[in-house]
Amino acid sequence: MSERPAAAAGAARRARVEAVRTAMGDAGIDALLCSVGADLPWLTGYEAMPLERLTMLVLPVDADATLVVPRLEAPRVPVDEELFSLRPWDETEDPVSLVAELVGARRRLAISDRTWAAPLLALQAALPAAGFVKASGITGPLRAVKDEAELAALAAAGAAADRVAAALLGGEIPLVGRSEAEVSQDLTRRLLAAGHHRVDFAIVGSGPNAASPHHEPGARVIGRNEVVVCDFGGTFSPDGGPGYCSDTTRTLVTGEPDPAFAELYAVLLAAQEVGVAAARVGVACDQVDAAARAVIADAGYGPAFLHRLGHGIGLEGHEDPYLVEGNGTPLVPGHAFSIEPGIYLSGRYGARIEDIVVATGDGPVRLNNSSRELHVVEA
Ligand code: ZN
Ligand code: ZN
Ligand code: ZN
Repeated sequence: MSERPAAAAGAARRARVEAVRTAMGDAGIDALLCSVGADLPWLTGYEAMPLERLTMLVLPVDADATLVVPRLEAPRVPVDEELFSLRPWDETEDPVSLVAELVGARRRLAISDRTWAAPLLALQAALPAAGFVKASGITGPLRAVKDEAELAALAAAGAAADRVAAALLGGEIPLVGRSEAEVSQDLTRRLLAAGHHRVDFAIVGSGPNAASPHHEPGARVIGRNEVVVCDFGGTFSPDGGPGYCSDTTRTLVTGEPDPAFAELYAVLLAAQEVGVAAARVGVACDQVDAAARAVIADAGYGPAFLHRLGHGIGLEGHEDPYLVEGNGTPLVPGHAFSIEPGIYLSGRYGARIEDIVVATGDGPVRLNNSSRELHVVEA
């Protein structure tokens, strides 16, 4: 990592801490506590291993931040003294009492959503006068709006996933006669070869399994004239820092699609286009969902679109903003999210088309650009 991006990343993190302090002030929060999960790397550049040993950033609204880490993890922390001071704890120390001391008399606490229950319960016992709320109320709306470096990382992740999608659609990954699990392993290998440092999922659902949106790829062998839904993504770090996620879905058929499926797919493709086109700055998240959903409902498949239209994406695969009925948050430039309508006919087949899209002042921009036409692969 050259000095310039590191300095820029440090400046971006300091700006995030300031934005968080302002939001804490507005919400009446005295201290923010961040453990495992994405709030911590977003603020500090440090991602805690998901261990039982406690890592916790204590960010009081009115004082400097301290990162409490296990002594053995301390060498991995990118220290930035302007951002936080480091307080490593030894194996026999009690990290919960360290955190409680740093919190002091502050009572209104926000704690990162992914924090394990065990340290939260211990903190509640150590700080009986404190009240806890989810940190996502503070960090969610801020993390949802990506800065330029984050958008570049998401675009790089999307392009890497697209290379895997292109191989899949181009018939480079054989399907017929192979198990879903084998195809999933191929996707995994290719996601890593394309530059992801971690694969988060590689769903392959064939035949009736395509009707299960989050199907776990298994021993089922893919046959001819079947539908195959592939949904895959990983974490991509262009500079060695915290990684940003990719997530894309393409649906294929092995041999001639039955005419009813081709019709269903045409509806789905139209819905995805409408959803992307609706994702303009100022439009509420639930209106984007409604626009795509109307296309599917009008064609008679309403109940078969059984999930929300999309989710935000960034350091986490699913984060704010959620494109779902009831979320009136208007899109702003820098919101990044999936547009992924699906139609699932239980026992028969299903289909989904998913791209990551960014809302910009010039309209929606897709970060996934592999072909969305129904692909027929012969092998
Ligand atoms: Zn999903
Ligand atoms: Zn997906
Ligand atoms: Zn998704």
